[in-house]
Amino acid sequence: MQPDGQITRFAPSPTGPLHLGHAYSALIAASHGRSGQFLLRIEDIDQTRCTPAFEAQIYDDLHWLGLVWPTPVMRQSDRRPAYHAALRKLNGLGVLYPCRCTRGDIRAALSAPQEGAAMIGPDGVVYPGTCRGRAMSDAGAADALRLDMRRALSLVGFVGFVENGPLYGGHHRLDGDHMIANIGDVVLSRRDMGTSYHLSVVVDDAAQDITEVTRGADLFDATAIHALLQALLELPQPTYWHHDLIRDESGKRLAKRDDARALSTYRAAGASPADIRAMVNL
Ligand code: GLU
Repeated sequence: MQPDGQITRFAPSPTGPLHLGHAYSALIAASHGRSGQFLLRIEDIDQTRCTPAFEAQIYDDLHWLGLVWPTPVMRQSDRRPAYHAALRKLNGLGVLYPCRCTRGDIRAALSAPQEGAAMIGPDGVVYPGTCRGRAMSDAGAADALRLDMRRALSLVGFVGFVENGPLYGGHHRLDGDHMIANIGDVVLSRRDMGTSYHLSVVVDDAAQDITEVTRGADLFDATAIHALLQALLELPQPTYWHHDLIRDESGKRLAKRDDARALSTYRAAGASPADIRAMVNL
């Protein structure tokens, strides 16, 4: 079924060139959003990795593909007050705690003999909970803020999301045990940024009245985090369209760094927008 009248978005981070997977996401979102209802958002919270050159290339590649969107575009680097307000609300619910652990601390905690095998969640290894007992009154500039997943789940009743895509179509109810074991206490505010991908994407999809989010199937567990945050923050919930991942001939996922698959590389080799559509089966 083709959803109608949706407000959709493509939300790339200018940390590398767009590749075929991005084109796939953007083309699906644009076809569901139609003119004026397809938005572009620049997810540039990680200022150490984003560059103006990658951002310019994103605009150029998307225009070349034939996509149009209203301007000015929303940029996450302009949105800090909105993220801080969301963190204040979550703090009021008592679901945040400060965390000073480095990656090395987390690895060391996970290698302790009493720990089982480390679970890998959407953000890497599932946090072992070392700082969970710390109070927010103790939070300082060197701290990240984490979501206490168990506590957050205990505050919300039935939470789920609606999937429109062909892979997992239907209603999905969050599985609390899975989220505690396989996702865990994710970072909502990174120490160097004052926000995180999960928090920003949820706040911004609501601010832009997005009704359908198109993204890769690798973000399915991330969507569960987003549904939980939408419930905690009392934000309207879009529906989701998780698409299959574009892989190379050996079955390996295309990473942004894989310049060989960058749209700009295909363009330089003479490919047309129709060729790109054909490569992603659209
Ligand atoms: N900035 C994210 C990315 O480029 C957006 C993904 C999403 O939330 O749909 O992967």
